[in-house]
Amino acid sequence: MTETIQNRIRRLKTEKNAIILAHNYELPEIQDIADVVGDSLELAIKAKEATEEIIVFCGVEFMAETAKILNPEKKVILPVKGAGCPLADQLTPEMLLEAKQEYPGAEVVVYVNSTAECKAVADLVCTSANAANAVRSCRSKTVIFGPDSNLADYVQGEVPEKIIIPVPKTGHCYVHAVFTEDDVREAKKNGRITICHPECPKNIRDHADIIASTGGMVREAVKGDRWTIFTEKEMAYRLKTLYPDKEFSVNENAICRDMKLTTLKKLEEALISGEYNVTLPDDIIQKASGAIERMIAIKG
Ligand code: SF4
Repeated sequence: MTETIQNRIRRLKTEKNAIILAHNYELPEIQDIADVVGDSLELAIKAKEATEEIIVFCGVEFMAETAKILNPEKKVILPVKGAGCPLADQLTPEMLLEAKQEYPGAEVVVYVNSTAECKAVADLVCTSANAANAVRSCRSKTVIFGPDSNLADYVQGEVPEKIIIPVPKTGHCYVHAVFTEDDVREAKKNGRITICHPECPKNIRDHADIIASTGGMVREAVKGDRWTIFTEKEMAYRLKTLYPDKEFSVNENAICRDMKLTTLKKLEEALISGEYNVTLPDDIIQKASGAIERMIAIKG
């Protein structure tokens, strides 16, 4: 009998002493085969704790880079070279350095959805799960925050005692821009609990019942039976796997194209070839690691 691709991947994983981590937005078949599925913060923590020799990161580049910075001595593999994040690409280290000149003394918080070079000039990295607490932990009253201006605006509402300067002013994720206020109203009219990601624009956040990171959605879902979720579509699969008796509807057009690049075939090829092997310059790893360690220490 021919061995299924899932069994070949499991066998290769054991042979190579690898762990497979997958983000909540990955394809269902990738979520099913992963050892751990989670949000950026949960996966960063798992990557740090991993005892295996190889970390295979099914996600996008900034996530694999973060795992590499936390484990410089380990091999970190991103199955598809070039699986990126258009939000992360909206911020450069030069933009942050310019903002630091404009706001002397302001601490720099960057969202984990940013390049390793941006993390290297940041004081602190955050995820959507701990962004408000990260900003609260800053010593400076003014905080430079990038690249997601919607997350910056959400955090400003949660932490009014700080002055948040978003860099760039309109940084956003295209996946979270597909929702409309009418979608939220309609879902509520149909008796559904609405939950949105903080990367959603303000008009969606203002109408949703709950605002939560994807990890937060997993925790909140115990509280109700019929949900409409406003984030990337595969999150509905993740929630349904965890709570098979509950209903989760999602906008099928909310698709992160880069998260869909990792297929079972690509994952198998990556385990065989050991590519794409994530590498970063030593100085970037050294400069970014403190800011990422602070992120891991801050609770959501
Ligand atoms: S969903 Fe948006 S923020 Fe997340 S990886 Fe895709 S493009 Fe980047």
